Amino acid sequence: MTKTWKELPEGGLITESGNAHQYETGDWRNLRPVHDREKCINCLFCWIYCPDSAIIVKDGKVVGIDYAHCKGCGICARECPDKVKAIKMVDESEYE
Ligand code: SF4
Ligand code: SF4
Repeated sequence: MTKTWKELPEGGLITESGNAHQYETGDWRNLRPVHDREKCINCLFCWIYCPDSAIIVKDGKVVGIDYAHCKGCGICARECPDKVKAIKMVDESEYE
């Protein structure tokens, strides 16, 4: 007998909004963004572009990276201005 879509098992469901902080997606990362406070000019491009809101800002300055949620996409490092390049992507294996 042919199954219809109604018999298929349910996949992952998002049952409530605003729950991303409950899921620590940092385990997926194979490259770690490392921030250099000495080079940083606090333009906050990295904070604006990070898709996981993992750039931690306090009083208008980058103070760290939320590694529990950063997936290591590298967008922050890419968007950091060429003349600054205050974020470097480093292989996670160097931190094991
Ligand atoms: S690597 Fe990606 S997820 Fe991690 S802080 Fe940078 S932009 Fe955000
Ligand atoms: S994009 Fe680069 S210079 Fe700008 S706040 Fe982020 S790390 Fe600092």
